[in-house]
Formats: sequence, C-alpha cells, structure tokens
Amino acid sequence: MAGLTLLAAAGPWDGPGDKVRVAPGIFVLPGVQADTSAANLDAIANTGFIARTRAVAVIDPGGSHARGMRLQQAIAATTPLPVRHLILTHVHPDHAMGAAAFADLQPEVIGHVRLTEALARRDAFYRAMLMREMGEAAAGSAPLAPARLVEDRLSLDLGGRVPEVVAQPPAHTDHDLLLFDQATGTPWLSDLLFVARIPVLDAAAMRRALRKFGLRLVADRPWTFEPGARRTSRAGAP
Ligand SMILES: [Zn+2]
Repeated sequence: MAGLTLLAAAGPWDGPGDKVRVAPGIFVLPGVQADTSAANLDAIANTGFIARTRAVAVIDPGGSHARGMRLQQAIAATTPLPVRHLILTHVHPDHAMGAAAFADLQPEVIGHVRLTEALARRDAFYRAMLMREMGEAAAGSAPLAPARLVEDRLSLDLGGRVPEVVAQPPAHTDHDLLLFDQATGTPWLSDLLFVARIPVLDAAAMRRALRKFGLRLVADRPWTFEPGARRTSRAGAP
C-alpha cells in the first residue's frame, strides 16, 4: 500500500503540543506504550483529528477527560474551525472515555450501529476501572452516546473532498469503524492495526468465534495463534 499512511494503535507520545501531522489536515496525538495510569492520563491510544475548509472531525477523543482536553487544546492551537463531528471508532475506554471533554462543543457523535449496545453493556465497568487505575485523574471521564449510527458508510462534509467513515465486520470488536480520507489516501485504522503492541481482544467475541469451530477459550493459558503466512526454512538449514 505504497503512498498510504497507516494510522495504528501504537506510538510514542511526548505531550499535547506534540501533535504529528501525518497528511494535509490530518493530525495525530500518539499514545504511549504503557498501561493506564494517572501519570499518562490513559493516553495509551492514538487520537487525532481531521480539519478541512469548514469543520473539524475528532477521531477518538482518548482515554480520559484530561486527555480529551489536551486533544481539544491541540485542535484549538491548529485551527479556528469548529469541531462538528466526534467519531468513536469503538467502545474501548482508551479511545472513548475522553468524549465528555467535548460535550460543550456539541459535536455530532458518530459510532457503529452496534456501539450503543456495547456502551450500555460496558460503560459502568469502564468508569469503575478508570477510577481504580487513575484515581482523581479520571474525574469527568465518560463516553458520549452516538447520535449518528453507521451501518455501512458515511461521508463527512468538512468542506472539500469528503472523508468516509466505514463500518467494519467483526474484527477487533464487533463494532469497529475506520475512516478513509480519499483526498490524501489516508486510512485511519484505529485498533484494527496494532504495531509493536499486543492487541486487546474481545473475549466474548473470541469465544463466539471459537465456538463456531468447536473450540473453547481457556482463560488461564496463554493463547497461541498461527499466522496466516510464515517464512519457511529448508530441512538442515542453519
Ligand atoms: Zn481497542
């Protein structure tokens, strides 16, 4: 995929001022390679935004209210355009719990058609978990309910050539969205791609998938997965 920039779930983070411009109008605040803590504000996932000629869309507000505020500051330092859309690529807390920081801006919150149910199932659990892991630094952290649900694809009118939000079949979760910006040839893959990091797997979805093959997930054993392709070696080779 030469010429494309793949925006994945990993990368160093040096602070809110250190946004990275990965393509014209597309900025990332990379996450740190660490577990959630008060010190890192649960900034462990890549978050960012896309700004065109009329408006801005946030792509994942981050893992805490404080992280969301830092993203908001980074946007304000980049463009005076209004934040019209906030995309939640999936339910996981490091991507969604910073949404409350944008509530005052009243963006249109966009999620997969199954996100509402996923939030209802996990919201209370994630809030309690964040309080445990971050203490007071988690104050105010919460997702926002999606107002616009994507079943197939959705074009975002930010001015200029429109990026598309595309619903995915079950993968990282059963409700992943990705964004594809045709103007710059940039796919924003969120947690559909991990680099140098062990991906989080949805245990319930994994159990369902394994059950189809008559297999069972054993929680106290490490999982081994066969890659779809591997390098082969000749017998007797060093
Ligand atoms: Zn995730």
